Amino acid sequence: MSAQLLQGLPVARALRERTAQNVAQLHGDGIVPRVAVVVATDNESTGWYVRSIAQQAAKASIHCDVLDLGAQADAAELTAALRALAADDQVHGIILQTPLPAGVDAAQLVRLIPPEKDVDGANPLSFGRLAAGMPAFAAATAQAVIEVLDHYRIPLAGEDVAVIGRSMVVGKPLAQLLLQRDATVTLCHSRTSDLANHTRRASVVVVAAGRAGLLRSEHVGLGSVVVDVGTNVDDQGNLVGDADAASVQSIARALTPVPGGVGTVTTALLMLRTTQSALERSVVPA
Ligand code: NAD
Repeated sequence: MSAQLLQGLPVARALRERTAQNVAQLHGDGIVPRVAVVVATDNESTGWYVRSIAQQAAKASIHCDVLDLGAQADAAELTAALRALAADDQVHGIILQTPLPAGVDAAQLVRLIPPEKDVDGANPLSFGRLAAGMPAFAAATAQAVIEVLDHYRIPLAGEDVAVIGRSMVVGKPLAQLLLQRDATVTLCHSRTSDLANHTRRASVVVVAAGRAGLLRSEHVGLGSVVVDVGTNVDDQGNLVGDADAASVQSIARALTPVPGGVGTVTTALLMLRTTQSALERSVVPA
């Protein structure tokens, strides 16, 4: 048996269509949706990612400001930049890119992003609102997993779903989103004993550990769906996921590829959210 590949591109395309509809409505109202990306690193992969955000924004007719404060930026400069963006009514989305310079506390800075502009779901307030069932932007990667599963009509209600990884960017917010969808969620992590015992009985396994080859055929149940969030660089310099694709494919019925899976969806989601944030605040009381 060979698993179906759940490609991210069709999912991203569907999100882009929704973004285009929102942009048309906003432009009709004389509003240019605007997203700001704050960068303070010369990390190459961050640079690549930020350029892809700027390109997608340009294609969607969303204004994108990249504020590159340089790898030497200190907490005061970053604070000032984020405060100015938070106060600027013309800015609808704010993304603080990591890594940040040594000694700068990201956890303090993300609190400066108002939840309504927190399109990447980085502020712990956004997570708290999500956990409480209030409107909030969940961490974009976690939401991207749901978008992929929904696009390919993978049922979640009443299903056992195992998530490997408990970070604030993927595992924890994803567990909340899955609970909202009535899945029974098992959140696994580096201290989970007998990982396979938890993952094998799940109909959907999401792996977000950052460990190449962690998930193998012995970890998945026959006919399950595997969503691979991991991004790792192998010895040959290739981007690979956390699942050993060849091994998992013999047992699972579907698998997201890396690259070309969940990662493809995340940026499209950031654009859609920027337009949603702009629409939300463009409502003029009658
Ligand atoms: P992280 O290092 O913050 O968290 C990793 C999690 O995995 C931890 O909770 C840890 O307990 C768990 N873990 C580690 N080793 C494990 C093991 N052997 N068994 C079980 N659990 C284990 O990482 P993160 O920021 O959550 O990112 C996870 C992965 O997802 C990385 O590869 C990252 O690059 C990728 N990622 C991809 C996207 C995307 O858009 N595709 C976005 C964010 C992160």
